[in-house]
Amino acid sequence: MQKKFYITTPIYYVNDKPHIGHAYTTVAADVLARYRRMIGDKVFFLTGTDEHGAKIEEKAKKARKKPKEFTDEIAAKFQFSWGELNISNDNFIRTTDKNHIRAVTKALKFMRTKGDIYKGVHKGLYCRECEQFKTERDLVDGLCPEHKITPEKVEEESYMFKLAKYKDQLLEKIKNNELQILPKERKNEIISFYENEGLNDISFSRKNVGWGIPVPWDKSHTAYVWADAFLNYLTGIGWNGESESPPDKGGEGGFWPADVHLMSKDILRVHATIWPAMLLSLGLPLPKTLFIHGFFKIEGQKMSKSLGNVIAPEDLVRRYGVDAARYLLMSATIFGRDGDISQDKFDEKFNADLANGIGNLVARSITLASKINSLKSLSGGQELKVKESWLEYEKALYEFKIDTALDDINRMMKISDNYITTNKPWELIKKDKDKAADILYNILETIRHISWMLLPFMPETAEKIWDSLGLNPADELKKDFKKAIKWGGLPIDTKVNKGEALFPRL
Ligand SMILES: [Zn+2]
Repeated sequence: MQKKFYITTPIYYVNDKPHIGHAYTTVAADVLARYRRMIGDKVFFLTGTDEHGAKIEEKAKKARKKPKEFTDEIAAKFQFSWGELNISNDNFIRTTDKNHIRAVTKALKFMRTKGDIYKGVHKGLYCRECEQFKTERDLVDGLCPEHKITPEKVEEESYMFKLAKYKDQLLEKIKNNELQILPKERKNEIISFYENEGLNDISFSRKNVGWGIPVPWDKSHTAYVWADAFLNYLTGIGWNGESESPPDKGGEGGFWPADVHLMSKDILRVHATIWPAMLLSLGLPLPKTLFIHGFFKIEGQKMSKSLGNVIAPEDLVRRYGVDAARYLLMSATIFGRDGDISQDKFDEKFNADLANGIGNLVARSITLASKINSLKSLSGGQELKVKESWLEYEKALYEFKIDTALDDINRMMKISDNYITTNKPWELIKKDKDKAADILYNILETIRHISWMLLPFMPETAEKIWDSLGLNPADELKKDFKKAIKWGGLPIDTKVNKGEALFPRL
C-alpha cells in the first residue's frame, strides 16, 4: 500500500518579507517532500502565512493600507520566493482564507462546548513586538531580550483555554514518543520544561484587536494567535472544523495526523504544549513528529534588520542559481543544530562541491564517453559502492538527516573521481577499447544514480544530468523508483550530450 507523508513548515508571520531563515525551513521541507514523492509515497506538503493580530493591524496602518491589502502583498512575496526556490508545496494556506476562518470558528465553539474555554482575566507582561506575554524569568533587566523594550503590564478580560488540564496526558505522550520530538536534546528540554514549570491556562482571545477571527459567542473578542494559527495544519488539508469528521476519517485524503511539523527552536515550546492540547480537546490524533532545526548567524552575528545583514531568498538565487542556492542552504549546517553562514563560505562551497565536484565529474565523464562509439557493461562496478550509498542515503533522509544525505552523495562523487583517476580511461581508449567501454559505463551509470539522489535537492540539475547521459527527463520521472535505482539502468547504446557546464565557477 502507498504510504502517506504529510509535512508542514510553520506558517510564516507576514509582518515582514521572507528571509533566509524562512527559506531554510521551507527548502528542508521541500527536500523531504520531494524525496518521499520520489520513493512513491503519497505526499502532502503544506506551507503558508499567518496574517492576523495587532502587529499586522499596526503595520498596515503605518503603510496606509487595509490589513487585508497589506497581508495580500506580503503573502504574495512569500509565494514569489517559494516559486524562485522551486518549492513543491501542495497548498499555500493563509489564515485569512475563508475555509480557515470558518473552521477556526467551529473549533472554538467545539472546545467551549467541551468546557475547555472559559471567561477569565488575563494578566501579564506583554511585549507588543513579540505579541506574547512574558514571564519575569523571560526578561533581561526588565526588558524583552528580543526587542529591548519594557513589556506593558496588561490585565484584561479574555477567554482562556484549559491548557493545564492536559499537562499529564501530554507529558506522557512526549515521554513515550507518541508525540516524538527530534533531535533528542529538544525532547529533553521540553520534558524538563513540563516538569519544572508545568502548564498554565492560556489566553485564547483579545479584546480591542479588530484584525482577527471573531470569537463566535462574543464578537467583542477576536481569536488570539494560538487559537487561530495552529489550526492551519488542519485547514490546510481541507479540514472544515467538523469535529465529527476529523481529517483522519474524512474524505480529505487521509493526511492527518501530520508525519512531521518542521520548525525552528523558537516556536518549539508552543508546538509541544498548546497545539497538541488543542488537538486533544478537539478529539484528534497528535502529529507524529516535531523536528526542530537551529538558527543561523550571518558571519557570526544574529540576522537583523538593524544590522542590515538580512539575506532574501532571491539574493541567493540571483548569485548562485536556484539549485545551488538550495544546495548551499541544505549543506550549511548539521540539520538540527545552529549554523553560521557567510557569502565567502557559500562561494567557497559552491566552487568546491558544485563547480569542482558534481559539475566537473559530469563534464569530464561525458567528454571521455563521447570519444568511444559504444559502452559495455561487463564488470558491474561494485567498487563504486552504489548499493551501499543508497542504503546510507535513504536511512539519512528517513531520519531527517538532510546534511548527512548530502555527505553520502559527495562521498559517492569522490569515489567516482578516484575510480577515474585509478583506471585512466583516457589511456585505455587507445590500448583496450573493451575495458575503456566498461569503465566508462560504470562511471556514467554511477552518475545516473547520483542524479537520482540529487533529485530532491536539485531537481533541475538531475534533469540536466539525465539529458547529458542521453536520457529523456520526462521518461525518467515516470519510472518506478525501485527499478530506476537498480544497477544497469543506463542503456549501453545511449548517446551522451555535452551540455553546458552545470555550475560554472564564480
Ligand atoms: Zn519582544
